[in-house]
Order: sequence, then C-alpha cells, then structure tokens
Amino acid sequence: MGKESIDALQQRGVRVTPQRALIWRALTESGEHFTAEEVWERVRDELPGLELSTVYRTLEALHEVGLVADSRLPEGPRVFEAQPTLHPHLVCVSCGGISHPEPEVGQRLLETLVKGSGGFEAHELHVVAKGLCAVCARSGESQAARGVPG
Ligand SMILES: [Zn+2]
Ligand SMILES: [Zn+2]
Repeated sequence: MGKESIDALQQRGVRVTPQRALIWRALTESGEHFTAEEVWERVRDELPGLELSTVYRTLEALHEVGLVADSRLPEGPRVFEAQPTLHPHLVCVSCGGISHPEPEVGQRLLETLVKGSGGFEAHELHVVAKGLCAVCARSGESQAARGVPG
C-alpha cells in the first residue's frame, strides 16, 4: 500500500490497524462508492475472520475524521467513498451506476447554497440527480434506432 495513504490516516489521528489500513486501501484504490457489505467482500479474503460490524465501525471512524463520505441515496443503499468534500451524485436508473459531476460543479453548488442562505454552513449535502448515464442513454438510442422495444 502507498505510504501516502497510510499517512493520510495518521495525519487525522487514526490509529492504524490492519483492518483500517485494508479498508482504507479498498476505498482509495477504486475511488468508487461501496456499501459496507461490498467493502467487506473486497477485504475479507485478506483478513479472514473480519466481521461486517468491524467494517461498519471502521467506516464510521473514517467518516468521523473526515476521510470518508457517507451518502444515503434515495431508495438506495448507504454508500461510503474516500471523497471527503461534499458533492452531488448522479445515479443511473438503468445500470445503477453512481457517478459525480466535475468537482467544480459541486463546488459551485455549495457556494451558491451558502450565498443564497445568508451564510448557512453545510455539513452534509444530499443532492442526487436520477436519470441515464451517458452509456445507457446511448444504448437506449441505438435500441430505439433499431426498433428494439425498451
Ligand atoms: Zn460520491
Ligand atoms: Zn447507466
């Protein structure tokens, strides 16, 4: 594992245990959104005997020090990611993919919120756009062009 990623834990005062290091690596390596169960599936081969409750506790601990975002998507699972800044989510209703707009988009959204609310300081942001990702939108178009129903 990269030394910088362990440093990030230590800088936030997180006591680095093998579980924490492994869970943190699983999140940072992919940069994706995972449920606690998915994180567990990724790391349990390397740490036999690791319990799901430990994964939850670790994710909570990393969330508390501001290293991990904990997002609740509407009708979706609670997902964790190594992305500490507040940001909106784009959820594809066809493939279930979760993605982000460009970072500046989230930044502008937050600035607009603060400006338009008399200086409200946001600690959480639950902004979700539901729709079709570019890949699904394209495959939908090509299906329509071939006359294949939905
Ligand atoms: Zn995200
Ligand atoms: Zn999609």
